[in-house]
Amino acid sequence: MAVRFESIPVLDVNINNIHHLWPSLMKAVESATFIAIDTELSGIGTRKTLMAKSVEDRYKGTAENAKSRSVVSLGLSCFQLTHVDTKSGKNTSDMSDDSSVDDGAESCRVWNFLVQTYNIMALCQEEYIVEPASLRFLVEHGFDFNKQYSCGVGYYRGNDKAESPSSNVSLRSLFTKLVRSSKPVVFHNALTDLVYLYQNFYANLPATMSSFISDLTEIFPSGVYDTKYITDYVHRMPASYLEYVFRKSQRDNLQRYETDKSSVTINILPYPPSDTVNQCRCGLPQKTLQDTDPDPDTFQAIKDHICQGFAGHGWCGNGNRCSKSHDIDMILDLDQLVQTKKSRKRKRRILNQQQENGDNSDEKTGLVGNQFTKDQLDQFIVSRHENREICKAGCHRAGFDSFMTGFSFAVYLSKYGNYNDSFCLDDCGMEAFKNNVYLSGKDMPLSIVKSAFSKNSKDHKEKIKRISENGDNS
Ligand SMILES: [Zn+2]
Repeated sequence: MAVRFESIPVLDVNINNIHHLWPSLMKAVESATFIAIDTELSGIGTRKTLMAKSVEDRYKGTAENAKSRSVVSLGLSCFQLTHVDTKSGKNTSDMSDDSSVDDGAESCRVWNFLVQTYNIMALCQEEYIVEPASLRFLVEHGFDFNKQYSCGVGYYRGNDKAESPSSNVSLRSLFTKLVRSSKPVVFHNALTDLVYLYQNFYANLPATMSSFISDLTEIFPSGVYDTKYITDYVHRMPASYLEYVFRKSQRDNLQRYETDKSSVTINILPYPPSDTVNQCRCGLPQKTLQDTDPDPDTFQAIKDHICQGFAGHGWCGNGNRCSKSHDIDMILDLDQLVQTKKSRKRKRRILNQQQENGDNSDEKTGLVGNQFTKDQLDQFIVSRHENREICKAGCHRAGFDSFMTGFSFAVYLSKYGNYNDSFCLDDCGMEAFKNNVYLSGKDMPLSIVKSAFSKNSKDHKEKIKRISENGDNS
């Protein structure tokens, strides 16, 4: 494939095919440069818990929730860096061979990834709470609970129980495989996922946050990365929910490729069509509004068309019944138009100051884009309706979300990292992002670093010992 992709295959794993798919899943994990992970949950508890002022309270509340809620699906997207090309373009054409590159002479790289994405339907075998809000969210996104109950891969929570030999193929052994593989893991808003993964597929959660963090440093020794942290604290975008970050990364990446800046290409395996392979459509639209110059009425009409709640947070209480548009491309177009408007205003102000110095017509100074009227907007909106379902992945939501997370991270890697003839993430200049986890409403991230005073939990110590002793039996 290439820098542009129309759809992404997500492999649906359930009780009927997990044995068949297991070897390829293990290979994908083993060969990955990093693994992006996402979970769909039966509930996340109240906002009060998630936003508790004290981070310790936040951990304790989330841990309590993880003990009574369950994971309904688990998404894994394995990104393998296969080769990095140096693209010849105008940025590099006049460069010397001097390897001591500075900012201006940075070579333009194309980072090529082979991507394999799995969506595993999970079914907790113990009683668990399903929250109405989560239920509604999942149903509105096409989640099929009938399918989950009939085909979900069963699991139990907490500490290991005496296992039968057949349980080598299970969600718990998949998690064990992740631990053993020592791969860097990437999340979007990592904390909730990490707490739920620990309780549901690893062991009983420790009582304190400091033990939890100590344990994590041993469970994921190659580091935890959080694309929400990178977006909010470093990259800065008008919004930082996953769909927005992914789409913005996808657009930026294409633009970077076309203007000879470092970028990412995605390759996929040639899967034969089957019930297992779901093609999740996510191609960029042919037409956008971002280079147009709407008159004030049309600009307002674009604003009125879009649901502002969804645009800001990626979530709207009206769900599918909302009368306004949740179209992510129009939301990004609008943000771009606002940016352009601001910079045009700035340029005009400067020009006005220099007015007497001669020709300052907008045409010649590039201040005018393609004029855009309300009629054209109406036509545009009609043409967009068939695309409304883009990024809605139904039952494969966790799988597709993990892909979106991994792709956004790959684009950040091409932008902020650097290639030093190594395919190991630790050699790619991403240290500043490593082990910093997003905390909503806080100025600082949570650091996944073992402190001298914290102790690992007993359950973790026993489990990690078993994992290292048993060798690779998968
Ligand atoms: Zn809405």
